[in-house]
Amino acid sequence: MAVARKIAGFIANSSWIRKMFEEGERLRQQFGADQVYDFTLGNPDVEPPQQFHGEFLKLAQAPLPGMHRYMNNAGYLETRNAVARLLSSASDLPVKGDHVVMTCGAGGALNVVLKTILNPDDEVILLAPYFVEYRFYIDNHGGQPVVVWTDRDTFQLDVDAIGAAITEKTRAIIICSPNNPTGVIYPAETLARLGELVSAKEAQFGRQICVISDEPYARIVYDGKSVPNIFRYVKNSVIVTSHSKDLALPGERIGYLAANPRMNNVEQFMEGTVFSNRVLGFVNAPALMQRLVADLQHVSVDIALYQRKRDLLYDALTGLGFEMVKPDGAFYFFPKSPLADDVEFVKLAQKHRILLVPGAGFGAPGYFRIAYCVDQGMIERSLPAWRELAREVGL
Ligand code: PLP
Repeated sequence: MAVARKIAGFIANSSWIRKMFEEGERLRQQFGADQVYDFTLGNPDVEPPQQFHGEFLKLAQAPLPGMHRYMNNAGYLETRNAVARLLSSASDLPVKGDHVVMTCGAGGALNVVLKTILNPDDEVILLAPYFVEYRFYIDNHGGQPVVVWTDRDTFQLDVDAIGAAITEKTRAIIICSPNNPTGVIYPAETLARLGELVSAKEAQFGRQICVISDEPYARIVYDGKSVPNIFRYVKNSVIVTSHSKDLALPGERIGYLAANPRMNNVEQFMEGTVFSNRVLGFVNAPALMQRLVADLQHVSVDIALYQRKRDLLYDALTGLGFEMVKPDGAFYFFPKSPLADDVEFVKLAQKHRILLVPGAGFGAPGYFRIAYCVDQGMIERSLPAWRELAREVGL
């Protein structure tokens, strides 16, 4: 065998993803790309904002000496200071550049944090439905995932259930708001309850528990909503995020982690993350991107475009009888599967040339995910197919 048994197992378990992808390709070849309605990927269809291209041009016209060299593994201080200023004003806490490490996307930041904090067999609480890569990231660093469900109707945190799942082995809790795949935002009161719970459990078990707040969608929010800053509510917390979604730069691998300045042993934590960023082989986040995003901390793609797509699809699908929570942010819906078996439902949708991801892919069978970061024309063209699909499943 060319690969480790564990990797072979992971590949076998996720073979349905490959099959889905292959089926999508087959449909595209058979019917033409514009006749296939692909809602599977969280890959933004919009281009980065104009300001990004402006920064890019400025730097290309006047390159800085040494701008392609290695740097401190934490990243450029100017960029980290820019991030720190944003987080200080959001949290009213003295976040400094020293509390920030620039990373290769949010995925890189999650791996750096988990490597830094996990001892073998430490438990990490995940809240279903969850971004499936969390499981693999936890495994990368020898941890054990423990799954706790959010409320099955609202997808809000069930703080009591989280409390019941915390043990003497719990080392971290990963939350994601606005959430992939549900689009919900956790309100300040819930985060405050989570903060109180975690402090009480830390006192009970005599160990630090890190709340990792994964926030790549924090600037993609609708109807004037905003994401409460986790630092205000949870002392031992770290934000992991990226510009993959808010500046539409997923291929550029630029993000950061930032620790709550009130975290216990925060200097040691930061030293650990800088070390982990190095030895995981990331070394540092891409230098060019660090320069470009420094002055774009208050910029994002046009959120109104996503909101229009959300409204269009939400009204159309709920009108057909699909049941779902109206998302406050991100660019996903997570409706209830009209068939008990979500994988069967997704297969049926394929017959109508609608490509979806089953809830099982998010640890949540019985639902399915729609990513609407797609061309609005495609959404409009897909509506007759949705109508037929709804009729076929008896909605
Ligand atoms: N976390 C969540 C919830 C995501 O949806 C994604 C990407 O889709 C990531 C992390 C990874 O983001 P990045 O591309 O910045 O590594």
